[in-house]
Amino acid sequence: LFVDHPLGAGQSLALDKAQSHYLFGVMRQQVGAKIAVFNGCDGEWLAEVSEASKRGGVLLCKAQRGPQVNPPDLWLLFAPIKKTRTDFIVEKAAEMGAARIMPVQTDFTNAERIRQDRLQAHALEAAEQCGGTFVPEVTDLTKLSALLDAWPTERKLMFCDEAIAGQAGAQETLESAGAGPWAVLIGPEGGFSQSERARLHSAEFAHPVSLGPRILRADTAAVAALTVWQQALGD
Ligand code: SAM
Repeated sequence: LFVDHPLGAGQSLALDKAQSHYLFGVMRQQVGAKIAVFNGCDGEWLAEVSEASKRGGVLLCKAQRGPQVNPPDLWLLFAPIKKTRTDFIVEKAAEMGAARIMPVQTDFTNAERIRQDRLQAHALEAAEQCGGTFVPEVTDLTKLSALLDAWPTERKLMFCDEAIAGQAGAQETLESAGAGPWAVLIGPEGGFSQSERARLHSAEFAHPVSLGPRILRADTAAVAALTVWQQALGD
């Protein structure tokens, strides 16, 4: 369970309404039950239910169960697509160990707005589901061009370009570019515009890659790209 509190022995953890409803209404936990909790930075702790009210229960933090485990410094930049597919991308990126998930507006992105709070909640749920201790940050929708203008040049960009599908193999490109902070970029259903492609092909920090000979849907491409990156450079 994710709790928004510092964790330490003896720390009392007040639960909000949704957490209390889930633990005591849905999961039927009672006073004395042991619950694994994390807050994104202090590792995993065992806490005991000391008050079981569906409107606002309390846990008492007892002992540390595991260390804080942070993912590699990897960002996922993707152009949001339909709502359910965008939710899927965020959920899978959190499971696959992206440290930061960044919806971007490209020339052909349809979405003008996103519900950042909903996407952040999805990332949190995914981290809870897979027993992680880290919750990736989901940023608000930002223009790709603005991000590229201020790009931190030490961060390498795995630019997944459908126009070179079947050519530059991703694994070799990543391995030869080497370790360090990275970002993965996935385009929208309409792909990248000519000017975006030209700009990315001329940027020194960008490494254009193919994800194979077939054109993948953007949500599939995000999972495939993160898998290849983890395989080549992750831990
Ligand atoms: N409308 C584009 C076309 O038909 O050429 C396809 C865009 S694709 C659905 C969405 C995004 O997934 C692309 O912008 C790219 O980032 C990524 N992608 C899909 N297949 C790919 C491939 N084989 N190699 C590299 N990137 C790929």
